[in-house]
Amino acid sequence: MTPPATSRIPIVVIGGGLIGCSTARALAAEGHAVLLLERDEEPGRRATSAAAGMLAPQMEAARHERALAASPAAEGSMRALSIASRSMYRDFVRILEAESGRSIPYRDDGTLVVALDEEGREELRGVAERQRTIGLAAELLDGGAAREVEPALDPAVVAALHLPDDHAVDNVALARAALEAAAVRGVEIETGRPVDAVEIDGGRVVGVRVGERSVEAPVVVVAAGAWSGRLAGLPRVLPVRPVRGQIGAVALPAPPRLTVAGPGAYCVPRDDDRVLIGATVEEVGFDHLPREGAVRELVEAAARFLPGLVEGGDLETWSGLRPGTPDDLPVLGADPDAEGLLYATGHFRNGILLAPVTAATIAALVSGRSPPVAIDAFRPDRFAA
Ligand SMILES: Cc1cc2nc3c(=O)[nH]c(=O)nc-3n(C[C@H](O)[C@H](O)[C@H](O)COP(=O)(O)OP(=O)(O)OC[C@H]3O[C@@H](n4cnc5c(N)ncnc54)[C@H](O)[C@@H]3O)c2cc1C
Repeated sequence: MTPPATSRIPIVVIGGGLIGCSTARALAAEGHAVLLLERDEEPGRRATSAAAGMLAPQMEAARHERALAASPAAEGSMRALSIASRSMYRDFVRILEAESGRSIPYRDDGTLVVALDEEGREELRGVAERQRTIGLAAELLDGGAAREVEPALDPAVVAALHLPDDHAVDNVALARAALEAAAVRGVEIETGRPVDAVEIDGGRVVGVRVGERSVEAPVVVVAAGAWSGRLAGLPRVLPVRPVRGQIGAVALPAPPRLTVAGPGAYCVPRDDDRVLIGATVEEVGFDHLPREGAVRELVEAAARFLPGLVEGGDLETWSGLRPGTPDDLPVLGADPDAEGLLYATGHFRNGILLAPVTAATIAALVSGRSPPVAIDAFRPDRFAA
């Protein structure tokens, strides 16, 4: 059915990835009428489905500590946001399961970050101490103890950081459940509807344009992932860019129990005996086509600490575009120059992890409450300078 040339709705959410669906659902659960507009015929097929589903802020910090340390304040804000979201996850999954009637595989076996040499061991020792100092569970194990926790590890592993609170979720099942839960909560979902522009008038948002059609709305949430900065009409340059990630999976006769990250790759077990092996980080614009051999290189790197990977069958590969930002932090909150315009984007490597806190933040802002965590570091106008 062709929608009318002009329609009116209290809230429009642009984008039906995990961020858009969870946010729309949270708004509807608070009694708001919401229209979700998704460009693709099938929502949730972009970065959301490409991801590995790690809910692993401590592992992320361990692997990317140097990059984050450039700005201690930003590091602290990101940690608070990530840990808050991780602590919301079990309830988030339970609620989406109840509302959608689908089961969402969730693995709470924990995560290991492994070292293959003495330098790596010393780095992990430092990370463990720093994480414990701020109250996080992190234990440095020697190689033997690590193999007791995860027998699939190679004898070459000399040490491992054990992070029992870093979990993993099946992000494909989660995205489907979030979409269905949004629908159950009454969100109107239109697919095959690319939003061309956000419309602003007199310092406030008045709606969006979809081709020839105008949708009038006093509240608009930008959740269009890597494409967010391409929307016309935004009151500022939104420097969200695509960062391609290639990833693969093999089925194994004896998959590891835990998520294991090591030099050059990470491996995430799924309930169907597949192991995901990720991921490249590539600046290639909106090109989402895979590069021959890239995932093979990841498998070779991972086989140095999980040798059983060589017994895997066919290698399945795919890729996605992460929504990156100049400082690797999300863009979360209200636009100070356009009343009613909110951003929930730029989640880069952590959009699966950050879905619950993002949804709760936008719902709080729209309903006039304080967000669950301070979001100043993520404000949309921070790039102006
Ligand atoms: C290989 C890989 C591994 C990853 N692993 C992890 C992980 O382990 N843990 C983790 O937390 N994160 C991970 N991520 C990051 C995570 O996938 C993203 O941060 C997250 O999916 C972003 O969700 P999103 O909804 O913002 O974007 P997307 O899932 O890309 O969704 C955006 C949606 O907006 C739609 N859209 C775009 N433009 C328009 C428009 N104009 N109008 C209407 N709709 C529009 C798109 O079609 C799309 O459906 C990984 C990413 C990749 C690529």
